[in-house]
Amino acid sequence: MKLSELGEFGLIENIRKSAGRLTPPVMIGIGDDAAVLKVSPSSSLLATTDMMIEGVHFDLRYTDFYSLGWKSTAVNLSDIAAMGGLPRFCLTSIGIPNSISPKQVAEFYRGCNTLLQSCDAILVGGDTCSSRKDLVINVMMLGESVKNGAITRAGAKPGDRIFVTGTLGDSSAGLEVLKRGVRDRRSRGKTIPFLFRNSRSAVSRLVERHLRPEPRVEWGMTIALSRCVHAMIDISDGLSSDLAHICEQSRVGALINAEKIPLSSSLCRTADNLDHPPIHYALSGGEDYELLFTVPTSRIQKLQTLGLPLTEIGEITRTQTMMIVDSRGNKTLLKPTGYNHFARSRK
Ligand code: ADP
Ligand code: MG
Repeated sequence: MKLSELGEFGLIENIRKSAGRLTPPVMIGIGDDAAVLKVSPSSSLLATTDMMIEGVHFDLRYTDFYSLGWKSTAVNLSDIAAMGGLPRFCLTSIGIPNSISPKQVAEFYRGCNTLLQSCDAILVGGDTCSSRKDLVINVMMLGESVKNGAITRAGAKPGDRIFVTGTLGDSSAGLEVLKRGVRDRRSRGKTIPFLFRNSRSAVSRLVERHLRPEPRVEWGMTIALSRCVHAMIDISDGLSSDLAHICEQSRVGALINAEKIPLSSSLCRTADNLDHPPIHYALSGGEDYELLFTVPTSRIQKLQTLGLPLTEIGEITRTQTMMIVDSRGNKTLLKPTGYNHFARSRK
């Protein structure tokens, strides 16, 4: 079978099977946002790693090195946040082609360290290699679960309400803007392409959310400590794909109300000049790094006292399918259309 047929998640499933059965101290292994390792009776270590490759995850024509350091750290912090954990230690490895200067590497680490410091985490190691052509980045983050234990993707129950933090779709709309800037002769070299000259501040916000996402570390811990939540994931591949991970691992389905999906005013104000309607970026666009979680109805009142920017967008169902209902009440199948490495057609 070819990689394009198996897809990223089929391949990870094969790797998971090859690792064999899990036994303590491994509480959660391959398949969640981070591994959960019971290192002492009172605490669990959380471990996650993510790679970023030039030409696949980023393009140096529109990414500065500070943002690149920030983002490669943010995506790992976000996986710790998705478990409701406290990030502690970071190891960052880089494969660098000759075209990159020491000053650019220093900027990269300034971005990493600024974000780590804001979360009280620290860089403790990594590896440095030369690369023939592309810049390759790998970050590993270690954290601790807060006292109620880690929140996995597997605990959702029929009847739970589905919530997200913040707004969705900004990051992938921001990416579209940046790509247009590279393609469009009139815009080249400008952060805000010609077409968007009348909506500068809105577009800057979308671009910023793509280049320097804010991992929801504090919110993840607050949610975990509240004991309101059955299952949680961060939205890295897109709402439809990340919800599918919760549904698969919890063996449930979901019904999403399209009208309730939170969209930012920046995305809505820019919508006329984008290739797709805002809902497309929210469902299929990735890299928002917001949290998606499910809550039993008995805990919703408590959840609302936490003072976080949360939106209820749907309900977990017993039948193992994902559906979406639009403003006219039409229900259709919701397919996971977010990012999948090796998939034949990519967004
Ligand atoms: P996320 O988007 O939350 O970072 P991924 O989709 O990258 O999650 O990974 C899903 C799960 O599969 C994680 O538990 C990750 O550690 C595991 N995983 C991914 N690739 C590999 C691999 N090559 N070997 C072992 N585990 C892997
Ligand atoms: Mg994740």
